[in-house]
Amino acid sequence: MAKVLLEDIKRRFNNVTAIEEISFEIPDGEFWVLVGPSGCGKSTILRTIAGLETATSGNLFIGDRLVNNIPARARDVAMVFQNYALYPHMTVAENIAFGLKMRKINPKIIQERVVNVARSLSLDHLLDRKPKQLSGGQQQRVALGRAIAREPQVFLLDEPLSNLDAQLRDDTRAELKQLHQQLGITTIYVTHDQVEAMTLADKIVVLSGGRIQQIGEPQAIYARPANQMVATFLGNPPMNILPAIYKNDGFDVNGQLLEIPVFMRENLQLRQGQSVDLGIRPEHISINNDSISTENSGLLVEVKLVEPLGRETLIRVSLPNSSVLLNVQLGGNIRLHPGDRLALQLDLNQLFVFDPKTGERIL
Ligand code: ATP
Repeated sequence: MAKVLLEDIKRRFNNVTAIEEISFEIPDGEFWVLVGPSGCGKSTILRTIAGLETATSGNLFIGDRLVNNIPARARDVAMVFQNYALYPHMTVAENIAFGLKMRKINPKIIQERVVNVARSLSLDHLLDRKPKQLSGGQQQRVALGRAIAREPQVFLLDEPLSNLDAQLRDDTRAELKQLHQQLGITTIYVTHDQVEAMTLADKIVVLSGGRIQQIGEPQAIYARPANQMVATFLGNPPMNILPAIYKNDGFDVNGQLLEIPVFMRENLQLRQGQSVDLGIRPEHISINNDSISTENSGLLVEVKLVEPLGRETLIRVSLPNSSVLLNVQLGGNIRLHPGDRLALQLDLNQLFVFDPKTGERIL
């Protein structure tokens, strides 16, 4: 068993608390992604699991073993970093075999593992090359191969794709996913890239300010974010946030009334005049072609920017007399120009309501 269990882990550096109240249990074989903005504590958590940092308090288990005081080399984990330091004077085969040789494993077994790992990472034709004769993506695969060959109980990956260009990053991401399906090794992956998080993870842990904001399956977090931070972090372009005031029939958005259905009003239980932040994703807004003046789940806006992307058109619009800008994602190639005035229709089933003080989602 190689589950990974963190119980109330905290790490302070002098008077800076890097992470606190970090608790989660990763079941054996799952792929979890730690995601969040720079400085949120992702790497500190990973390094603590690896044994490269010591927790100030809390307990850490790998499998059923409490590893708080077990040194990194005895934890049976393999870590791959962003700057995959390969040994430049060794061939690909020697690099992959290095950790095994250090552990004095039988040369025949080493040879077999190198061949198998190289095959699964499509490196078999490159085994005699030195790192400088490889592309960035190939070098990164060798770094992964070196980690895989050790057959660790847990894989720890810290932004392993961030040095690759866009195309290579996409390809390697897909390979990583396949590899995990093949090997089934418990994997913890750190990134600030939400596409990587959404596509790779069985579960995502969203962090901010050293604390866990939400843990869940990617689609569940996307559909039901716990708070405004999570809501705006996952999704590109990000969720729109509209400051509004609750009135009799709905929300006053900068002087325009967004009427909401009765059931929603009943669910919300807001005070008259209460300030809220409304959240709506760019893909849940459409153009209302029927009516501008009578429609009341819509907003009148002015187009500021049009970005035709072929399959879809992104537009940025502003509300009259307001600095609030909204991103709208429209299917197909829509002909619009800056200065055009539009009525937008918001899909009210997809509307989120946040408490502006705490950021917590209230609907
Ligand atoms: P990034 O995405 O930029 O790598 P991160 O989410 O991985 O960021 P960490 O590197 O874990 O964040 O850092 C979390 C916090 O702890 C930051 O405020 C950072 O400045 C602080 N920190 C990390 N390592 C140390 C250290 N050795 N000494 C002092 N503070 C540190």
